Amino acid sequence: MDQSNTTCPLCEDDKDQYIESRYVYGGTENQDYIFCQACDFYYITPKPSEKDLEEFYINNFEDFMDKRSGDDSNWKEESVHAQIQQRETKRRIPFLQNFLKEDISILEVGASTGFMLSAIKDIEPSSVLSALEPSKQFSTYLEKSGFECYRNFSEISKNKRFDLIIHFFVIAHVYDFEVFLLDYMSKLNDGGQMIFETPSATDPLYRLYDIPEFKSFYWQVAHIVSFTNKSMKYFLDKHSFKYEIIPHQRYDLSNHMVWMQEGKPGGRDRYSDIFSVELEDDYKVSLENKWLCDSMIVKVYK
Ligand SMILES: [Zn+2]
Repeated sequence: MDQSNTTCPLCEDDKDQYIESRYVYGGTENQDYIFCQACDFYYITPKPSEKDLEEFYINNFEDFMDKRSGDDSNWKEESVHAQIQQRETKRRIPFLQNFLKEDISILEVGASTGFMLSAIKDIEPSSVLSALEPSKQFSTYLEKSGFECYRNFSEISKNKRFDLIIHFFVIAHVYDFEVFLLDYMSKLNDGGQMIFETPSATDPLYRLYDIPEFKSFYWQVAHIVSFTNKSMKYFLDKHSFKYEIIPHQRYDLSNHMVWMQEGKPGGRDRYSDIFSVELEDDYKVSLENKWLCDSMIVKVYK
């Protein structure tokens, strides 16, 4: 790997920086993805401007994701999108369930169509739910569905606090991940929790199977940064938070086999009538146990 003369935005090391990928999906010619060997962190350079990012999430994110996801998702029709996202609620709820108490106030940052909040309401009807969603398309939909919806952090009133703040696949996308974490931690009541999910750069398609087509797909412009368990630990220790990091495998064996066979996404469930549920579960647990998984669930305590 060629050395890069950049400085790591997480640990500020400027020696052990290497060019992980010269190709950034959806990015420009001059953008690279850099690996910091000092803290096991990945970041894009040069990163998009704050203004460009803001514009992207207000207007274009659904389009970008629709093109990227293949037949596997639908980011254009909100109601269809919400339905497909049911599988995501099924996957995520177990990580939240123990925290859902009577009258709990919850903020979801990047609430999309509100499918997570709706699932929470079904489990704990007394919960008080708020959404934060910059996308014009989704925030309009959220308001129509009756959710209190903020468009950005500055719209939350100064004294407002929540018991639980959740966000799924948001922190890798924001302009400044550090400001983001500290801002939202400051909006928690004492004893409150933040629970979030972010991709883990220990994805087995990358670190275990090393599929070239996946590499060109993985390092994408929408992800400003990518954590591993090590760099997430470094990040949370740096701010002296109490936390728990849980390894999690999101994509299934079929998805991995299609990547190996065809070098492209969209294979989820293709062999689900052949592979047993037990096989799928065992496969995921094996990857998680070795920290060769594609995602992590992080719980931060205040
Ligand atoms: Zn670093």
